[in-house]
Amino acid sequence: MGFKTLPVMDLTIKNVKLFWNENIVKACISINNGRIFKISKNKPFNASETHDAEGCLLLPGLIDIHVHLRDMQAAYKEDFLSGTSAALAGGVTTLLDMPNNKPPVVSINTLLEKMQKASEKIVADVGFFFGIPKNTKEIFKASKAGVCGFKTYPHSPLSPHEKNILNDEEKLTLLLKEIKKSDKILAFHPDLQQNSFLNHDTKPPDDPIDFFLKKHGENNELEAIKWLSSIAQNTNTKIHVVHMSTQKSVQEIKTLKKRGQKITCEVTPHHLLLTDEELRRWKGIAKMLPPLRKSSDIEALWKGLIDGTIDAIATDHAPHSLEEKSRKFEEAANGICGLETMLPLVMTEVLKGKISLSRFLELVCKRPAEIYRIKRKGEIIEGNQADLVLVQTGKEEKINPEKFQSKAKHSPFAGRTVKAKVYATYLGGELAYKEGEIMMKPGSGKMLKL
Ligand SMILES: [Zn+2]
Repeated sequence: MGFKTLPVMDLTIKNVKLFWNENIVKACISINNGRIFKISKNKPFNASETHDAEGCLLLPGLIDIHVHLRDMQAAYKEDFLSGTSAALAGGVTTLLDMPNNKPPVVSINTLLEKMQKASEKIVADVGFFFGIPKNTKEIFKASKAGVCGFKTYPHSPLSPHEKNILNDEEKLTLLLKEIKKSDKILAFHPDLQQNSFLNHDTKPPDDPIDFFLKKHGENNELEAIKWLSSIAQNTNTKIHVVHMSTQKSVQEIKTLKKRGQKITCEVTPHHLLLTDEELRRWKGIAKMLPPLRKSSDIEALWKGLIDGTIDAIATDHAPHSLEEKSRKFEEAANGICGLETMLPLVMTEVLKGKISLSRFLELVCKRPAEIYRIKRKGEIIEGNQADLVLVQTGKEEKINPEKFQSKAKHSPFAGRTVKAKVYATYLGGELAYKEGEIMMKPGSGKMLKL
């Protein structure tokens, strides 16, 4: 005889607003051993600690599948600690780091060196991409080491051997076969400078911004998607288009998906919210690849997000020093930071009714976890890792890059009004960030072996 003893939880977060079965309900989350143990309406288990989150919306930790954490020889731009701190401040608990570092991650040794350095500093969970190795056998080794996928840069290969492979269909097919054998994804930057004016006799524009926009025009993106998808189709390898930015690309992906191609794609918040007019206004500060596009492209991207053509929103967080962004336009560095602005910006669009909360959560949590097979993340369900974000909504605030955890304290979104704010972030059940403060010790984030 006797009563069954109820377990004492590590933590209860009570009075949260939770999106549940298409409704917002008041709930309590009980967390034990880093996992969500129980979601209940009003009867939390006894817990060692209780946090009252009255008024906050509780979301799953965001999963950002496109981040440049830099570090190594580019640590002055960002390092593993500042970059993952920026992630937590933006409600991002899991991120995938790109291989175009200094040095580029195209060998196992560089990968291991990078992982070692990251393991000492990260405060969020991080997975790693691998570039295109010299020897295709390294694909298997990198997969065994746990990389999330492979990444190629057709417009600007990371090494002479990557260029070699991309220029030789037979070698590229072999590479795709190896990636398929390892059951991984090839992510690619869609830019092929084949159709551009550079190969024609027409006079290039004098204005550096016009020149830049034309050099990375919509047809380069479209041709890159057509080219790689046709080769990948022969080997049935999964490919992923990063930061897709044009109406033509959305249409092409739609067609390819209908045909049954194994293709997924992502879009960035800046391509969803800023046009080339902002590039002219902000110049270097708003310079990135692909460049900001026309409002008709933005419209098509939003449609693609809603109808399911586009799978995910990812930041392409690519920090640079202010000096590198303030040079004359031709020499300014490509890329802006995004980890701390994605949630406030896109949640504001949710609040405006531009997109539903459930679709937003699919785009920033659920689908990213599915595409890269990140287990026990991306949804608030019992048994999942307790990666959670408390969001305050309704109060207007202006984006202020000076408050960024990122080393890059500039953004073309500076001064923009948002109506959503990250109040606190939990990683594996630990309070990791609260109101501007990082609570985690360097190295307490996990390295994802995918
Ligand atoms: Zn990128």
